[in-house]
Amino acid sequence: MLRQWARDTIHQLLAWVYPNACLVCEAPEPQPNCFRHGLCPGCYEAITTDRHNSCPRCSQTVGPHTDLENGCPHCRSVSFGFERVFRLGPYEGRLREAILRIKSASGEGLADMLGRVWAECRGSSLPSDEIDCVVPVPLYWWRKWSRGYNQAEAFARELARHLKLPCQAGLLRRVRSTPQHLQPSRSARRENVRGAFRVRRGAKLTGLTLLLVDDVMTTGSTLSEAAHTLRRAGAQRVYVAVLARD
Ligand SMILES: [Zn+2]
Ligand SMILES: [Zn+2]
Repeated sequence: MLRQWARDTIHQLLAWVYPNACLVCEAPEPQPNCFRHGLCPGCYEAITTDRHNSCPRCSQTVGPHTDLENGCPHCRSVSFGFERVFRLGPYEGRLREAILRIKSASGEGLADMLGRVWAECRGSSLPSDEIDCVVPVPLYWWRKWSRGYNQAEAFARELARHLKLPCQAGLLRRVRSTPQHLQPSRSARRENVRGAFRVRRGAKLTGLTLLLVDDVMTTGSTLSEAAHTLRRAGAQRVYVAVLARD
């Protein structure tokens, strides 16, 4: 807690000394207007360039010769509540650093910027014409309160704004805290998140196609449960957009 406080204070001091410091690596801007969306050229390039092939269904990084018929070897035997996952990149390097930063309250500006960057770089890959609404994965109220904000919500709002789609942050609620410790098996992880979400009372989702948004997808259990919850409430189809796939 104290270390987090010290880190936040250092970030604030740096932002004061270098008003235009890169939001990820904190390098000061050498000349005006050479940063893009608050990112230095090196970070922008690293965050927006996905050098790997990925599975069109679960967005896991795969080798160049992987058979991707009906998903990849990681997901082929798994049933998800969503159709497919779109990512900015793999959970590594500068993108991972950026995601670790948005997990503290001082990262809210960066979470906004990443929404803009996602829309700019991957927006055209989405079936935007089909999507009726963007829905962020909610945090349990206690976690949102202790962090100061929900990073997935800040990212989703800005993403939606740049895609010119509505965003409904209160549509899905997390009604139970889901401890993040490592679950030994896929079925245990699924059990851990079962019933964790609820759709807002009175929400009309029948026939809608939704874009569910989170910062990172690891096993997909949480996103799948959230998508199932939306579909049980009438949504016809759920796509997923994440910053990174772990
Ligand atoms: Zn940078
Ligand atoms: Zn896959």
